[in-house]
Amino acid sequence: MRFAFEISFMVFWIITCIIRYPFAKRNKSNQIEKDKKDTQEKWLLALAALGMILLPVLYFATPWLDFTNYYLPNALAFMGLLLLPPAGILFYKSHSDLGRNWSAGSEIRDKHTLVSSGIYKYIRHPMYTAIWLWVIGQALLLQNYIGGLSGLLSFGLLYFLRVQKEEQMMVSQFGNQYVAFKQKTKRLIPYLF
Ligand code: SAH
Repeated sequence: MRFAFEISFMVFWIITCIIRYPFAKRNKSNQIEKDKKDTQEKWLLALAALGMILLPVLYFATPWLDFTNYYLPNALAFMGLLLLPPAGILFYKSHSDLGRNWSAGSEIRDKHTLVSSGIYKYIRHPMYTAIWLWVIGQALLLQNYIGGLSGLLSFGLLYFLRVQKEEQMMVSQFGNQYVAFKQKTKRLIPYLF
């Protein structure tokens, strides 16, 4: 069973790469007008890449990290499986709604527009909601302190240290338009939180 859970997570992981690739490729040619990434955010992005890309792949592909395995009841791993489809759908939808405005870091693109429709009508950070579901799924499906928990820890840190700064950047760029958007939406879960 353990291997089936791991394979399922890795298939999901490959799907997220396939979802992101065309957006990343297209947006390369879309100039960055303001780069607001500070040194802290650059380190946090590198840490998230380690926790969400390098370490899970290393755990899956080699036996090197097996000495830090943990063992969860199958029911919990099944719950992890259930998180992946909504994570994938939200991940795709947030990329497609943001379109040319998407960046991995805190950046304002050339002709950046404020997106407040599609999934952004309900929440301000659907991509982060998707990634929260993803890293919780990672911890439940890759049962290893290094390859599994690293996603939750590294993304958690990035989220809590970045979300407020990202919103401040959007307020300085879009002023009252973003303030009104903030009043109408929740951060991660519609109507709740
Ligand atoms: N926090 C958002 C977007 C993540 S991508 C989410 O979780 O869905 C990060 C970049 O998207 C930011 O650097 C910013 O430039 C851009 N961005 C964030 N919210 C936006 C919005 N509502 N409209 C347009 N661009 C946005």
